[in-house]
Amino acid sequence: MDREKQHKFTNSWIQQSEPYLIAGPCSAETEDQVIETARQLVESNRPQLFRAGIWKPRTRPNSFEGVGEKGLPWLKRVKEEFGLPVTIEVANADHVEKALKYGIDVLWIGARTTVSPFAVQEIAESLRGVDIPVMIKNPINPDYALWVGAIERLLNTGNNKLAAIHRGFSSISSEYRNTPNWEIPIKLKTDFPDLKIICDPSHISGQRNKVFNVAQKALDLDFDGLMIETHISPDDAWSDAQQQITPQQLIETMSLLTVRSNTSKSTTFQNQLEQLRSQIDEIDAEILKALAKRKKIVGEIGSYKKDNDVTILQLERWREILDTRIPFGEGEGLDRQFVELLLQLIHDESIKVQTDILNERVIPDNKG
Ligand code: PEP
Ligand code: MN
Repeated sequence: MDREKQHKFTNSWIQQSEPYLIAGPCSAETEDQVIETARQLVESNRPQLFRAGIWKPRTRPNSFEGVGEKGLPWLKRVKEEFGLPVTIEVANADHVEKALKYGIDVLWIGARTTVSPFAVQEIAESLRGVDIPVMIKNPINPDYALWVGAIERLLNTGNNKLAAIHRGFSSISSEYRNTPNWEIPIKLKTDFPDLKIICDPSHISGQRNKVFNVAQKALDLDFDGLMIETHISPDDAWSDAQQQITPQQLIETMSLLTVRSNTSKSTTFQNQLEQLRSQIDEIDAEILKALAKRKKIVGEIGSYKKDNDVTILQLERWREILDTRIPFGEGEGLDRQFVELLLQLIHDESIKVQTDILNERVIPDNKG
């Protein structure tokens, strides 16, 4: 069994609803704004957790950097008056200490902090022996290992009440503020089957009219929860104004989302699925066998090139492969980019096989 798969997470704090909902403003701005947002949320689509940023990691200085410690009593009020657990972002040991002092229920580590192993380690150390759930956002850049590293740092200091949040990755794409890369959280789920994964469609989309679609996509990929920025007057928000929605819009969003089950109890569905899956199993075996057959022939060509002192890369041949295979694949209904990527992978592997053959030589045995 993989090392990761052995990790056990304590999930009792998160298993209260489908999907687990975290809502609240990007930033705590004033006491009234925090309390009024919480009141409207509780009266409408009561989330499981109320969020508000107290210290805001801004890319550039001189923009609103959060109200700081003075906002913590406001969150304490949310907890006391509405019985709603609260969560804030922490980026260092001082934040952790203050959050614990005011009884914050759950912490989260932001994308700009997950990129820094020093900062994550500092937070993890400051939480040694403290029983509090921590949600870890993915790093700004699509680096799987950094995300896993942050999770491991918390596990290593004895905290297993963890969850991950996918909030997209920086990219030049203009479609999203932070482009989602669904393969990365899916890999995380595969490597840590016990870990709950939440999607933050607000920071992915960057625009309120895209929040619904991203949230639906996440639910279709079996994410366990959603973190949605909610503000009583989004256009006046002091940070992330364009992506926040009102508590009323949150009700609409939640009621329109389709929550699909990751399995169906119907035996007809199960039988049909089994049948289709066995067809896929057969096709996969055929694909792999064909690739192995291809590799053998590639090897034979390699030996032939070696005997005739010919270079491995024959550009013309490679061009011909691309020129014929791509339209052929497209004609068969495959996506052009997919065919290109697949051919590239196959070609890289062929070059590797032939390089090994061409450079095969008997290494003199120095022992004798
Ligand atoms: C936030 O949740 O307000 C925030 C700053 O998010 P991220 O770390 O994903 O940018
Ligand atoms: Mn925000």
